[in-house]
Amino acid sequence: MNCFASRSRIASSLGIPSGALLARFQEALDNPIPPTEASSAPVQEVVIEGDSVDLGRLPLMRYHDTDAAPYVTAGIVIAKDPDTGAYNLSFNRMMLKDRNRLGIFMTVGKHLNEIYSRAEERGEALPIVVSLGNHPAWAIGACMIGPYQVEEPGVIGGLMKRPLEMVPARTADLLVPARAEIVLEGEIEPFTREMEGSFTEFHGYATRPRERQVVRVRAVTHRRGAVYQDLVGGAHREHLVLPTVPMEANLERAVRGAVPSLKALRIAAPFCLVASIRKGHPGQPKTAALAAFGAELYLKQVIVVDDDIDVSDLSRVLWAMATRCQWSRDAFVIPDAPGSSLDPSAVTEGLVDKVGIDATAKPTLESFSPRGKIPPEVLSRMKLEDYLD
Ligand code: MN
Repeated sequence: MNCFASRSRIASSLGIPSGALLARFQEALDNPIPPTEASSAPVQEVVIEGDSVDLGRLPLMRYHDTDAAPYVTAGIVIAKDPDTGAYNLSFNRMMLKDRNRLGIFMTVGKHLNEIYSRAEERGEALPIVVSLGNHPAWAIGACMIGPYQVEEPGVIGGLMKRPLEMVPARTADLLVPARAEIVLEGEIEPFTREMEGSFTEFHGYATRPRERQVVRVRAVTHRRGAVYQDLVGGAHREHLVLPTVPMEANLERAVRGAVPSLKALRIAAPFCLVASIRKGHPGQPKTAALAAFGAELYLKQVIVVDDDIDVSDLSRVLWAMATRCQWSRDAFVIPDAPGSSLDPSAVTEGLVDKVGIDATAKPTLESFSPRGKIPPEVLSRMKLEDYLD
């Protein structure tokens, strides 16, 4: 656990400083490298099939007093679109049910749920594999929320600057990462719904149990002496840090495309983005907020500040909101828009109100009330030793 708990740790796995992570991710999006078929498959050194499968032998963790059962939290689910064959990778929490079955949470509107729905419409199970014990680059690629047609294995190749090595699964028509530690092979059953949850999520709340889909595991393959990797689920660093890397890279691109004078942005809290811009005209903060909402389903609050505010200094962000906003003019609400199905305040699961906040000075920072400064020549003239022995 905690392999992904800091940006510098993730970046060092790619041999780059943490400040270069977003640019590296964007470069990977532009220059994907498709996977290759590997000649050897360490992950298939041991193959367990059928009745011999027993998920209870994996050291699954229960993190919180509110978790209904042990969970798989760092499983990368690999599936392909039944029509196009395009690969999709995603993180999905999976609840241990019995020796070969797992409850699975799939966000409605996201890619795996879309792929599953297409299979279910035909009355078919969706074959999946779950990769456990993964390089941080695979994890960043798997938790990116990009366009539906983008195949994450190519983005992972771009991040690594070499193709992701894959081999055919033993019991499913899918490729699996040859160098993973452990792989679960199976399918998500059509029409089956059973209770899943509760489970404490990244926002710190236990999401309530609901009827959700079920994975039937047909085979477990692993390296000899495999290491089981998990991710500290809930409002802890690892769960909060890892997804923000691809999210901020995606948002940076989308917002800069709409407002080229974007200076910086930061996911400051779950569902909450702060962006700073050098405002060229009065509509730009709204343009920035709308571009961010369009690019990232999860966002619920977008706060746009002038470029004199450090987006990572939340007390300055609040200061700007308090001193540069009049709410009847500067906040706009989009009611009942698709958002996170994990928002505990949503009345209907997956539908949330979104608020855009223009916390820039109006009409411009230059013409706004001047901010008093202590003249620098006074500061430089004052010497502590003139006053103290
Ligand atoms: Mn996808």
